[in-house]
Amino acid sequence: MKINPVRGTHDLFGEEINKFNKVVAEVKDISQQFGFNELITPIFESSELFKKPLGEQSDVVLKEMYTFNDRNEDEITLRPEYTTPMIRAAISNGLLNNLPAKFFGTGQMFRRERPQKGRYRQFNQINFENFGSDDFFADIEIISLANTLLKKLIPNSNFTLHINTLGARENLSAYKKILSKFFNDNQKSLSKESLDKIYINPLRILDSKNPEDSAIIKKSPKLIDLISKTDLNNYEEIKKCLTDIGITIFEDPNLVRGLDYYCHTVFEFKSNELGSQDTLIGGGRYNGLIKTLGGQDIPGVGWAGGIERIMLLMNSIPQKEADIHIAILDPSFKIHAIKIYDFLIKNNFSVYWNYKYNLKKSLSFANEKKINYLIIVGENEKANNNFSIKNLSNGKQVIVNIDNILDYLK
Ligand code: AMP
Repeated sequence: MKINPVRGTHDLFGEEINKFNKVVAEVKDISQQFGFNELITPIFESSELFKKPLGEQSDVVLKEMYTFNDRNEDEITLRPEYTTPMIRAAISNGLLNNLPAKFFGTGQMFRRERPQKGRYRQFNQINFENFGSDDFFADIEIISLANTLLKKLIPNSNFTLHINTLGARENLSAYKKILSKFFNDNQKSLSKESLDKIYINPLRILDSKNPEDSAIIKKSPKLIDLISKTDLNNYEEIKKCLTDIGITIFEDPNLVRGLDYYCHTVFEFKSNELGSQDTLIGGGRYNGLIKTLGGQDIPGVGWAGGIERIMLLMNSIPQKEADIHIAILDPSFKIHAIKIYDFLIKNNFSVYWNYKYNLKKSLSFANEKKINYLIIVGENEKANNNFSIKNLSNGKQVIVNIDNILDYLK
């Protein structure tokens, strides 16, 4: 019986798992630098956590959620994103008493999308969230954090920051109405795909990639005309500060992001080396969302990044090999060999043993794996209670015992 992986899922091993672990390790380092605490939430939640907050008409909720009834008929969803679970967890555990409260997490997300390069049905995200601050420095900090992380992980990649402001939530709902009317009046100029979105989600028409839509999108009413002066000033300050700290920004007035909860600053880090799935990190402000989910009326800002997409741009990271290989020349020497094996492990060396009981095979294995030292356990070594150790980079071989091997290896 051969069972294939489920479509849109993938296994991680070899160099890929090394890249994955590097991403997670860098995320943990950077979280310390910026003062974010780790928060791990379950991979499934009550469906209602996602439906309304993400938008009943969003693609994620309409088409992509893995939802099922538990045995007692509770409706459960495998998390399609991390912001709402993090807020739920912060509220459930009383973590919003000292503000701002800053959290991060990494973990699997699930969306039933059409699989392609950089798009899977189970994938891993990094999430950074800052709850409770309206200060525009929080926006700058979280964007700078994303930029720092990408610079560390993909220093040779040409990623770019795209940014926009959606203004306050009220502006946005007014704008959606204006936009629906405009696109409705211009149905002839829209692609079939966009026609379906006129009333459901007119903002998504703005980021349509269909060339049929581009002319009418250019003529559509602009959100910026509805945004208050104060909010626009804030946005200007954010852009200025980002530029001052050396982050190049591309303003994109059509950047709206796919989920309903965003307002004010929205941003994406993109790469032109990825094909159509070109967004590495996406995020923004979600003032109002924490209240919708039953918490205090406090603002929030955060982002999510796709680990697999970042990995596509990372250089390969070879497997780390052992420091020492043990060649045991006959199975009857195992009891003598285990002493040195155990001693070296307890002294933090990595030791490999391939059960071949053959010097030639052990040597070629160690050479192939670029292992530096070979310990040989043969007849004489057993009789004299010592070990031979060969330095494979210069070929020199000496006799050592447990008491002086550490001096030799130093
Ligand atoms: P989103 O919540 O859609 O803004 O996604 C945030 C980030 O997660 C994206 O920028 C991608 O890097 C990553 N991502 C989203 N959906 C997928 C997917 N289906 N497969 C792999 N990565 C994804």
